[in-house]
Amino acid sequence: MGREFELASKQVDKVETRFRRIGTELPVRKTLPVLEMLQRYEPLAMRGQPPVVWEKAEGFQVYDAYGNCWIDWSSGVLITNAGHGRREIIESIVGQTSSGLLTTYGFASEIRARLVERLAGLLPWPLKKVFLLTTGSETVECAIKLARACGIRTGGAAKNVIVSYTDAFHGRTLGAQQAGGFPGLKDWIVNFDPGFVQIPFPDGFRTQDASFDLFERCLKEQGIAAGNVAGVLMETYQGASAAFAPIAYMRSLREWCDRHQALLVMDEVQAGFGRTGTLWGFDQYGIVPDLALFGKGISSSLPIAAVAGSAEIMDSQPVGTMTSTHTGNPVCCAAALASVDLVVREGLAANAREVGAVLHRRLREVRERFPQIGAVQGRGLVAGLSCITPGSMVPDADLAWNVVRLCFERGVLMFAPVGFGGATVKIAPPLVITEEAILESTGVLEEAFEEAVRERG
Ligand code: PMP
Repeated sequence: MGREFELASKQVDKVETRFRRIGTELPVRKTLPVLEMLQRYEPLAMRGQPPVVWEKAEGFQVYDAYGNCWIDWSSGVLITNAGHGRREIIESIVGQTSSGLLTTYGFASEIRARLVERLAGLLPWPLKKVFLLTTGSETVECAIKLARACGIRTGGAAKNVIVSYTDAFHGRTLGAQQAGGFPGLKDWIVNFDPGFVQIPFPDGFRTQDASFDLFERCLKEQGIAAGNVAGVLMETYQGASAAFAPIAYMRSLREWCDRHQALLVMDEVQAGFGRTGTLWGFDQYGIVPDLALFGKGISSSLPIAAVAGSAEIMDSQPVGTMTSTHTGNPVCCAAALASVDLVVREGLAANAREVGAVLHRRLREVRERFPQIGAVQGRGLVAGLSCITPGSMVPDADLAWNVVRLCFERGVLMFAPVGFGGATVKIAPPLVITEEAILESTGVLEEAFEEAVRERG
């Protein structure tokens, strides 16, 4: 599993457009000492991304120190919804830092109060209480705890099952990994908790049956009584493929959870803050979950994450039992407040919807030309192209890898392929990207497919 770029500089064609510039060998020879130092001092498992040493990033572009510039299709890893290096976010961080208040733990600060009020104000009823954490994985752990604690209260100890989905990614901590749906990522967990079960995600591609019957049938097959389910944990769209569930499925799931007193937990760590074309990803389904989990795009920068829920659920734990050292760090709160303001004030969800429509139209056109693209999934400014051997469901990780490599060499930056045996090319630019830049970068993608298929012979 996993592969990495060779640290050997090679000649690539020069690129010079309004948005992209490649004028050196790649990787840049002078950056090899930094790349090698990272290899020497960091674990192997940290490797795998295209070998560019980021010097600065602005809006939807990433720069190195050697005059090269990429259109960014990564947003880091879906972090920079409001754009990279936004002046408003920097000023908010600098303002808070200059005040001298750098940390408070759970002691009160005004800026933490302002952030939770702002988030609660934007979220629909009943998601009116917010617990701030630092990473997405922590929000998942917190949701597991809340769902099980509520389950035990309403149904006794047997009501502890967390239902999640195959091919789901919820983070790398123990609970999040057990709830995740990639067997290869959790073979180190010897003592599996039998209270975690996964069922197929109704994506309409790998799982053809996208009806809600599948949910109930799969639970039955795994011997799970509906009354023993404490919570259903679902990514709003699957990060591994950008696949959404059908709206009818989600409405049935919402009703099912109500009927069986199970918490519906939407992991919005990728989908929140405008990414899908609506402020919240769950708006796409016309439902409101019991718990919503946020991270990444909440601040477009510093590490901060949040669990939102109703007062009834969020207040179910006694005083002092949900804490974290860095909860609501004031500098991170300053970053999040500024980022949320930008997302709202600049209408970035609407931009994701409008420019996203152009992106998806172009991706459908590219797919028409290449039978090696098995599916184009996603909505707004997130997309996944799953590469296959034509006429089959066999993932083609080599093709996906080469497309990412060729795009990198031509000035469009993506992270390494994800999901589906490493065969999904994932597209997730900052939400400030323009139609012009999308048209230019999808042209590059099309060329990359042409060349990668031609190289294959
Ligand atoms: N949930 C989802 C949907 C994610 O995409 C991720 C990160 N890729 C996580 C949770 C975990 O977040 P973190 O890496 O901040 O712990």
